[in-house]
Amino acid sequence: MTTLQDCQALDAQDPLRPLRDLFTLPPGMIYLDGNSLGAAPRAAAERAATVVQQEWSQGLITSWNAAGWVDLPQRLGNQFAPWIGAGADEVVFTDTTSINLFKVLTAAARLAREDAPQRKKLISERSNFPTDLYIAQSVCAEYGLELVLLEPEEIAAALTPEVAICMLTHVNYRTGAMHDMAAVTAAAHAQGILCVWDLCHSAGAVPVDLKGANADYAVGCSYKYLNGGPGAPAFVWVHPRHADRFWQPLSGWFGHSAPFAFTPGYEPAAGIRRYLCGTQPIVSLSLLQCGLDTYEAARPLGGMAALRTKSLTLTDLFIRLVEERCAGHGLGLATPRDHAARGSQVCLTRDEGAYAIVQALIARGVVGDYRAGSGAAPAAGKGDGGTAHKDILRFGFTPLYIGFEDVWNAVEQLRQVLESGEWRRPEFNQINAVT
Ligand SMILES: *Cc1c(COP(=O)(O)O)cnc(C)c1O
Repeated sequence: MTTLQDCQALDAQDPLRPLRDLFTLPPGMIYLDGNSLGAAPRAAAERAATVVQQEWSQGLITSWNAAGWVDLPQRLGNQFAPWIGAGADEVVFTDTTSINLFKVLTAAARLAREDAPQRKKLISERSNFPTDLYIAQSVCAEYGLELVLLEPEEIAAALTPEVAICMLTHVNYRTGAMHDMAAVTAAAHAQGILCVWDLCHSAGAVPVDLKGANADYAVGCSYKYLNGGPGAPAFVWVHPRHADRFWQPLSGWFGHSAPFAFTPGYEPAAGIRRYLCGTQPIVSLSLLQCGLDTYEAARPLGGMAALRTKSLTLTDLFIRLVEERCAGHGLGLATPRDHAARGSQVCLTRDEGAYAIVQALIARGVVGDYRAGSGAAPAAGKGDGGTAHKDILRFGFTPLYIGFEDVWNAVEQLRQVLESGEWRRPEFNQINAVT
């Protein structure tokens, strides 16, 4: 049996422990929802004050040049690129994940239409994050493609010459299951299929090597593991072999080769800058810098390899403690146990009360979240047995600021919520607008 002392010993040996002090977390809260909205870096409040009081209030229009606002999307992109295996001048932070996905799917659809007009399918996963599927529906309607939704185990066999684009989210938002990016991309390329990867639940959470995997396009979120702040701009990456080939569909002036020449005709900038559209959200981008800087602080402590090791130790510990201490309470595991197939979250299932249990935990200061089941019939062979489509209690473990004693305390609270049955109380069964 694992003890509280074992968990404390793990904290004492943790080389990443000092990073926790870079964040402001409410006292007494155990925050297991950094995969939905990352914690606030301590530096963010001061950065916000500088941007508002100096750069904006005093510098006004001159700050576009003097404070470097004009190339913030590229500067932040260059800072973050090594964490996802991208090169210099290949990434920009801009717009939202949904919008960036629209840009790259359109670029891929145009490329496919030109090079291989006989390919008429865009394949994805049925349990992909819905906004990805909604955006894909628009692009398919526009480009005459058929959107084919699959279970993860059906993907390999579906990579056929009728497929133009394979669009997958690297780590599934519901189950935490992770695709083998290099293997799927290689299998897709062998059939002439372009690969678009969504890194919302993997950027900053697991090692990602876009160039190594030879991916074609990628997008991802910065307000989750990257701690960029609510609504912080997302990122977009395009492999350099495609970067200059097509205009993106949202041909705004910030993607123009010379925005301040004010010419009436659109001429896209070379490279990744053409993926910008309009004026950028400078305050938000400036705060994102603080989130990315917390990763720079992790670099001398072992970087992504150390973060991944800690993440796996945290998630293994959580699974083990739930099994040891919450046995007999009807919990199932939707997340794969295999390290190579898992992101940085653990998802539990329960036939009844998943939402209310999460609310009761939040009232006790343990913040996870709930994701509704898809309503689809559970397919065989998922997690510990057909759990992928059930209601989910989701717990994200950000190795930058979550410790091993936190895991112990979270499971202890879960045990008490289940044993007392307090989750049945009416106040925990009111459904809020944001779950
Ligand atoms: C969080 C998330 C999004 C969010 O998209 P926005 O446009 O930022 O709202 C999209 N896709 C996936 C897979 C996500 O996890």
